[in-house]
Amino acid sequence: MAKQPMLKFVSVERDMPVKRDASVRKEDFNEIYAEFAKAKAEEQSSRCSQCGVPYCQSHCPLHNNIPDWLRLTATGRLEEAYAVSQATNTFPEICGRICPQDRLCEGNCVIEQSGHGTVTIGSVEKYITDTAWEKGWVKPASPSQERTESVGIIGAGPGGLAAADRLRRAGIQVTIYDRYDRAGGLLTYGIPGFKLEKEVVMRRNQLLADGGVTFKMNCEVGKDISFADIRAAHNAVIIATGVYKSRDLQGPGAGAKGIVKAIDYLTASNRQDFGDSVPEIESGELNAEGKKVVVIGGGDTAMDCVRTAIRQGADSVKCLYRRDKANMPGSQRETQNAEEEGVEFVWLSAPKGFTGGDTVEGVMVQKMRLGQPDASGRQSPEVIEGADYVEKADLVIKALGFSPEDLPTLWDAPELEVTRWGTVKAQFTTGATDLEGVYAVGDIVRGASLVVWAIKDGRDCADAIVEKLGVPTAVAAE
Ligand SMILES: Cc1cc2nc3c(=O)[nH]c(=O)nc-3n(C[C@H](O)[C@H](O)[C@H](O)COP(=O)(O)OP(=O)(O)OC[C@H]3O[C@@H](n4cnc5c(N)ncnc54)[C@H](O)[C@@H]3O)c2cc1C
Ligand code: SF4
Repeated sequence: MAKQPMLKFVSVERDMPVKRDASVRKEDFNEIYAEFAKAKAEEQSSRCSQCGVPYCQSHCPLHNNIPDWLRLTATGRLEEAYAVSQATNTFPEICGRICPQDRLCEGNCVIEQSGHGTVTIGSVEKYITDTAWEKGWVKPASPSQERTESVGIIGAGPGGLAAADRLRRAGIQVTIYDRYDRAGGLLTYGIPGFKLEKEVVMRRNQLLADGGVTFKMNCEVGKDISFADIRAAHNAVIIATGVYKSRDLQGPGAGAKGIVKAIDYLTASNRQDFGDSVPEIESGELNAEGKKVVVIGGGDTAMDCVRTAIRQGADSVKCLYRRDKANMPGSQRETQNAEEEGVEFVWLSAPKGFTGGDTVEGVMVQKMRLGQPDASGRQSPEVIEGADYVEKADLVIKALGFSPEDLPTLWDAPELEVTRWGTVKAQFTTGATDLEGVYAVGDIVRGASLVVWAIKDGRDCADAIVEKLGVPTAVAAE
């Protein structure tokens, strides 16, 4: 694997109720933290009522065997808990950190539904696998038999990486092509480090490389190598490119300086966390420090932007959303975190244009009310005439969602079938497309979704390829 720049520091402090005081040595703090995390995981695990109707499990996209690993953790059998946890999830410590648990496993915990507060399943999952890493239980793939067949994976996000892991464990040769310099996709350059520490992702990349995955980084398919060449080089190809076309805003002043895309803003901040020199941060272009920041959008990307801006030392951070709090697409937990950190939400507000000349000075805001439900059942926002006002801003971040890039055109592959939304047409159970030997997984199939779904797709697709290539079951189970 090409050497990837590493992080400067390791943070274990995110779950601690107190922050490390400079007078306490890092090693001592880590020891205190380890004790705290153990006690907390055991306490939470023992709260599981073993209800017999594990809605938590059925609402986890990976159908993780949650009751079993909670029982094992509660009785101190951590190595077994890890074995159960990793059997269904390729990156349990990552999901434990960033799954929107309130919408998935924890939101469906029967203890939560009886009004006693959910078992904190995600934190326990994170604890189990962090401990497994510490104790050396997490091992790279070492298949009992190497196969000659190879699979090319385009995209090193969670979907591509999960597929790579399973294919390598079956002895299949795997090459991943990615246009970025570091693997991880949005785990590396989208999701901020305060939610997912970068070394947690980098050690996974390293484990895959140690297990024999070949990474071809800084390699953009459609530019540095053609799709046709990749197809010709491998027995099967998996498209795992995610969705990166940012939805845009129209209106007067929309092209002014100081109005930026969320993905550019977050990528720059993540690069800075890696210790890279980032000219756009140094010049202030993608830096919120000392600025009045307005973020437009109500999803998880918007929450990541507002929370990053707070950490960069913004003067004020406001989030404009055209519906109300109850109708926000993002996780309620993330919204609450943002509110607690000082973000001001301006509900029922939509941008109409921007004030200022070459450089933005404010957002022209239209006030909205919620009208009749649309076809999806959500109430449609309607403009309240005569209630417009200007929200001052010197950095505006557009976080309105993402759609797929036009792969058939970019890759000179008109035969690759896409849906009317531009996502690749593939079977949900296997990822198979109509092109022989071509599969697709993750966001490029589902549209902007979640890490846990990308992992599920990657695993299912790898299993389908293993079966298609006729790998004997004993080898595939390694
Ligand atoms: C800001 C942000 C925050 C998020 N937070 C969360 C969260 O907290 N929890 C959660 O579950 N989900 C979150 N998500 C969603 C989640 O990150 C995605 O659903 C998930 O990463 C999709 O995985 P993927 O493998 O399909 O694609 P990606 O992670 O997008 O990876 C795709 C990879 O393909 C590469 N690529 C693309 N085109 C090419 C090409 N032509 N040639 C070579 N390589 C290419 C890209 O460089 C990238 O590395 C967030 C998304 C964003 C944008
Ligand atoms: S993978 Fe996500 S949804 Fe499933 S148990 Fe873990 S945190 Fe919950």
